[in-house]
Amino acid sequence: MPHLHGFTRTLRYKLLTPTDVKQQMRCTTAHFRQVVSYYLQIFQEHQELIGYSQWLKAAETMTHRTKSNPHPVYPFDHEYSNLPSGFRRAAISEAYGLACAWQSSYEKWQAKKQKLEKKNPQRVAEGQKPVKFKEHPPQYPVESNSWLGYYKTEYKWLDKHHILLKLYTGSTYSYRKVALLQPLTIPPGYATGSPSLIHKPIGWELHIPIVLVEKSGLQEINKLVKTAATKICVVDLGVNRHAAMTIQDTKGRVYATKFISGAQDNHLRKRYLEKIVALQAQTRVIPEGERFAKDIWDKVSNLNNDIAHRVSRQIVNFTKDHKAKIIVFEYLDNLKPEKGTKSHWLNRKLGYWVKGRIFRYTQYKGLHVGIVTSRVSPKNTSARCPYCGFLSIERYTPGKEKGVDLARCTNCGVKGVNADFIGTLGIGLNFRLKHCS
Ligand SMILES: [Zn+2]
Repeated sequence: MPHLHGFTRTLRYKLLTPTDVKQQMRCTTAHFRQVVSYYLQIFQEHQELIGYSQWLKAAETMTHRTKSNPHPVYPFDHEYSNLPSGFRRAAISEAYGLACAWQSSYEKWQAKKQKLEKKNPQRVAEGQKPVKFKEHPPQYPVESNSWLGYYKTEYKWLDKHHILLKLYTGSTYSYRKVALLQPLTIPPGYATGSPSLIHKPIGWELHIPIVLVEKSGLQEINKLVKTAATKICVVDLGVNRHAAMTIQDTKGRVYATKFISGAQDNHLRKRYLEKIVALQAQTRVIPEGERFAKDIWDKVSNLNNDIAHRVSRQIVNFTKDHKAKIIVFEYLDNLKPEKGTKSHWLNRKLGYWVKGRIFRYTQYKGLHVGIVTSRVSPKNTSARCPYCGFLSIERYTPGKEKGVDLARCTNCGVKGVNADFIGTLGIGLNFRLKHCS
């Protein structure tokens, strides 16, 4: 387990449950477990989905009928016709988690077996008896004892004492107002996650995970910067480049630099968008009820999500590798995509949107390994010269090399410096002005 530094905790609340609510909670939990079992079977029959990035979507396509998916392979909807979508997704996630856990223990068992059997020929050659591997393989789970984790669409907080929970009556799902024995008290700086409904010998409880959010990371940051050895990873999210990163200390010394290219992804997204724009020009009447160019838009949105996951993972890994404790971003400027063709404009717009996701994913992934994320003002970050301190940095593109942005200073004359690198120094300076002075 990574050290969590108190970033995540679980709050436990006893619930006031009249007999009928109790009954519905039992019913809901039992129904949820049935659906989890259903999906456990799906993942057993389709083990290719375990480890596949689109597992949720694939499992839904196999089981859930929609306008664009009129004939799912499994008749799931017949059995669970009025199951709210959030319960379906919660059950799929639960089943997937159990299937993944099984697969990894199965692989461990296999490796152990192979390791032992590999030595047998040698044993036999030495006149010994071969050793038989007697351990049973881990059984694939067919049932679950999981507690229902509420998906965001199926619950709603009314106030500190009351929450609306969707519960199963045995025939339909409907909201019930449920009272907490003690008022919900979230410690300052924490945000709540999805609650789980759990039965204990003394009665029903709601378990609510809470996670430390950016703002209160402030205390942590102010504590960390007092140590001279603390390193920060400064990230500049660029337009052509996904990210430029530098590892700096609290005095501004630079220890390492890394760039994550965005050229390939930007090019691919541009091609998708060009297709969409071309289709729009061809089509006069858009078929009713269909989202226009849905297939291509899906590709664009998968690509964006993939970029955000990939880049945030690389940022967190780079930070970890250099034992930095704080990741520093700048607040995103207001969006002003430059003019150009429609697809170019759209591409920039989406690129900007991805930046916001990269930030959120990094923050989340960082929290789980004890790294705090901070944001500072973007003021002058790309204009201030790190060598002479004047606001005299100009970007320029050398020769014919497209996409390479260099910076020069009209005051001190320094030139040929990578413009995104200058950006990270500017962000690092704003961080020091905010926290280290
Ligand atoms: Zn200068």
